[in-house]
Amino acid sequence: AKEQGKRTFIVFSPEMNRRVAEYMWLDTNLRKGLEQNQLVVYYQPKISTHTGLACSVEALVRWDSPERGLIPPIQFISYAEESGLIGPLGLWVLQTAAKQAAKWQQQGLNIRIAVNISARQLVDDSVVNDLACVLEENQLTPCMLDFELTESSLIEDENRAHEVIGRLRALGAQVHLDDFGTGYSSLAQLARIPLDAIKLDKSFVRGVDLAPVSQSLIRAIVAAAEALQFRVIAEGVETESEDQFLNCVGVDEKQGFLFAQPMLPEEFEAWVQSYRP
Ligand code: C2E
Ligand code: CA
Ligand code: CA
Ligand code: CA
Repeated sequence: AKEQGKRTFIVFSPEMNRRVAEYMWLDTNLRKGLEQNQLVVYYQPKISTHTGLACSVEALVRWDSPERGLIPPIQFISYAEESGLIGPLGLWVLQTAAKQAAKWQQQGLNIRIAVNISARQLVDDSVVNDLACVLEENQLTPCMLDFELTESSLIEDENRAHEVIGRLRALGAQVHLDDFGTGYSSLAQLARIPLDAIKLDKSFVRGVDLAPVSQSLIRAIVAAAEALQFRVIAEGVETESEDQFLNCVGVDEKQGFLFAQPMLPEEFEAWVQSYRP
């Protein structure tokens, strides 16, 4: 008989078709985009509640595709993570941020830059060597580069993650736990991680001025962070009254559209010169 085995029918829904097509488009174009220098880093300031001034910026990548224009990271970071391209992409962001920090330092603008890293980048220790290299190449004071990592990157291999975090901090970088509150780490886990700060996810910050439950939650988180000696950074601050609430509960740094959008380096330079608390 010609027919052997059972026939399998795979039915693709329009949504699956769209996803497959998108994956294939990224597969053809993202690596090329990275090699052809189409990625761009934007910088969004964080404001210190203590000084009222910008103390740091977060590096946020975008892709300026000739075909589609400016593409936000949400549309290509997970592909990069799945395909392994996050390695070279993450290194490129780190190198770009280091060059920018050195340039600003030469201009007398001392501002730390925080770089996002994916769980994938934490499983081997290349990020530690990468940091050491970019600091050396750009003759940067070590404490000018920080890292933001998510809770999920700590779950997979806790001991490994702790070791890498310890080595990054030994090189002078701060390590911040990003999107705090959206994962599942317990207080006990949190107490074991050698962190500098937790970054409250914007879903908690959104409308906190009006929501008693979120207010109690943020107060409790700030108290826990104080006990563990972590600083607290709030992201996604969009309104004056959210800002006032965060000042009152003792958050250390704030970031959000209320202060500034992510900006190109020249835009940030102009912004920081005219920003008054
Ligand atoms: P994230 O690290 O949680 O970054 C915060 C996101 O919120 C950014 O989106 C930022 O532009 C946006 N945002 C800032 N202020 C406000 C606000 O007041 N309101 C609202 N609604 N949103 C605000 P963006 O730039 O699109 O980045 C999205 C995510 O992509 C980031 O989330 C981060 O997880 C990832 N990402 C960006 N750049 C990199 C990178 O270089 N490496 C890696 N691994 N991930 C990156
Ligand atoms: Ca972040
Ligand atoms: Ca977030
Ligand atoms: Ca505090």
